[in-house]
Amino acid sequence: MRLAFVGPPGVGKGTQAKRLAESLKIAHISTGDILRDAVKRESPIGREAKNFIDNGFLVPDKVMIGIIRERFEKGDCGNGYILDGFPRTVEQAEALENLLNEIELPLQSVYVFNCPDEFILERITGRRTCSNSACQATFHVRFLPPRVEGACDQCGEALEQRTDDSPGPVKKRLEKYHAQTSQIIPFYEERNLVQRLDGARTSDEVFAQVKSAGATL
Ligand code: AMP
Repeated sequence: MRLAFVGPPGVGKGTQAKRLAESLKIAHISTGDILRDAVKRESPIGREAKNFIDNGFLVPDKVMIGIIRERFEKGDCGNGYILDGFPRTVEQAEALENLLNEIELPLQSVYVFNCPDEFILERITGRRTCSNSACQATFHVRFLPPRVEGACDQCGEALEQRTDDSPGPVKKRLEKYHAQTSQIIPFYEERNLVQRLDGARTSDEVFAQVKSAGATL
């Protein structure tokens, strides 16, 4: 399967992408994870991106398109991939389309996760992520608590809150989603690729929708 997941920040698309990619043994490409890793390593891209991320702004298209090109060069996407958090602008969607046509791995479907903004704020501010960059499991203090408070169920490392998951940056990220990222939905509708999912459900219910959308491909 060759998919892109689109939706507001905190809707749970990362959790769903990770789960589906693991069950299908295909590549999970999260540009947020790639950027956070670059920030942690203090690489040149990480240093350039840090301020944008911390304040809830989008990292410039040119940087993102370079990152995604390099990621596909790894050559592990022949069996399928899930793009999570990319594209986020029409310019990125156009560049992605060219790239995927070049490597003959075009998108088969774009899953759009809908969720009202009021839900997002509660969900996102309770989100906790494993600080081990090789793990990055996500939890929620209310909806998906870890077995031991503050520790990852999978690797035992400490859980942390993302710097951009506090109310100020979240509001900015929602604004960016509505103003820019939502513009890519008509782009993919014109190509008949969009499937809409209800992201305001429990994680298992959303996963059931993800699987049944996949069954139609
Ligand atoms: P995410 O983990 O997908 O919510 O991404 C976290 C942050 O990384 C976003 O708020 C942006 O600052 C940045 N980012 C991730 N993907 C992109 C993208 N495709 N375009 C621009 N910025 C991005």
